[in-house]
Amino acid sequence: MSIAVEPCSPEAVVPVTVVPVTVVPVSIDHAKDAVPGQHDTLEIPEASQPVAIEWDYLAALAVVHAATLLAFVPWFFSWIGVATAIAGHFLFGMLGVTIGYHRLLTHQGFTCPKWFEHALALLGVCTLQDSPARWVAIHRIHHKESDHQPDPHSPLAGFFWGHVGWLLVKSRDHRNVFCYERYVRDLLRDPFYVALERRRTWFWVYVAHAALITAVGFAIGWISTGTLAAAGRLAASMLVWGVFVRTVAVLHGTWAVNSVAHVWGYRNYETTDNSRNNWIVALLSHGEGWHNNHHADQRAASHGHRWWEFDMSWWVIRALESVGLVRDVVRPRSWRG
Ligand SMILES: [Zn+2]
Ligand SMILES: [Zn+2]
Repeated sequence: MSIAVEPCSPEAVVPVTVVPVTVVPVSIDHAKDAVPGQHDTLEIPEASQPVAIEWDYLAALAVVHAATLLAFVPWFFSWIGVATAIAGHFLFGMLGVTIGYHRLLTHQGFTCPKWFEHALALLGVCTLQDSPARWVAIHRIHHKESDHQPDPHSPLAGFFWGHVGWLLVKSRDHRNVFCYERYVRDLLRDPFYVALERRRTWFWVYVAHAALITAVGFAIGWISTGTLAAAGRLAASMLVWGVFVRTVAVLHGTWAVNSVAHVWGYRNYETTDNSRNNWIVALLSHGEGWHNNHHADQRAASHGHRWWEFDMSWWVIRALESVGLVRDVVRPRSWRG
């Protein structure tokens, strides 16, 4: 594990599991007027001041975004690449981040065998959204004081800040594992998650999965044409579409939950934050856009609470439950009466 060379935030509150908040259901019409005006603006967290750029995150995100622009070059296009991107959005984005990182590891919305939990976490690592422990820690800090200090990514401190700016700046709350281990002691009891932290192993897993997808493209091209030129072109297409385009699409879907779904949408519950239910974000993030519902009932494995609030991840969890792979699935309180 790396050595802490810079101080952490001195804050001492240590929530290991997120406790559901008490909320009052309200009508949608009422909710339109329920914007908590006192939260209109917020300073960036004290732990992120003075502002110092997190150069390695900035470089990694700049590279994947720049590489994604290659999708506009026709030479890189292939239907196999596009299909891989769409499949990867579900595999890594939905199973890895939405179901694995968020609903299982952060909120314990269901239980499953350890091997399956680790598999979901590895899928999440392949989205370039940080190690499981750091992702979970930051998200638990978000739930602890949403849209109040020290929320790491409230859009009340600026829309760009809430979307991605917070990732590009050093924070004493989560700059290294010594700073955020107090939020994820449950995860860090498992050597698997500690190993992913060590020397940023999680990042090299991401690099390895990108190399594997590229190699599969090369193999398909070689087998189907027998020419190096065609194999190389399909490998490049798989890298651009199957890795970079999909990575950027999943990143912005997740970031939109933090930014868009804390600004625009309707509210079913009068929570103490500005969380919103936004159907566009819900579509882009496999159900995470029903974010006001989620803030009101954090452990519930379904984020859609009303019949029209379609939550793809919930139906996958239901399917996994029906075959016995997941158990103890937490239903929304509003369904239980
Ligand atoms: Zn939120
Ligand atoms: Zn959450």
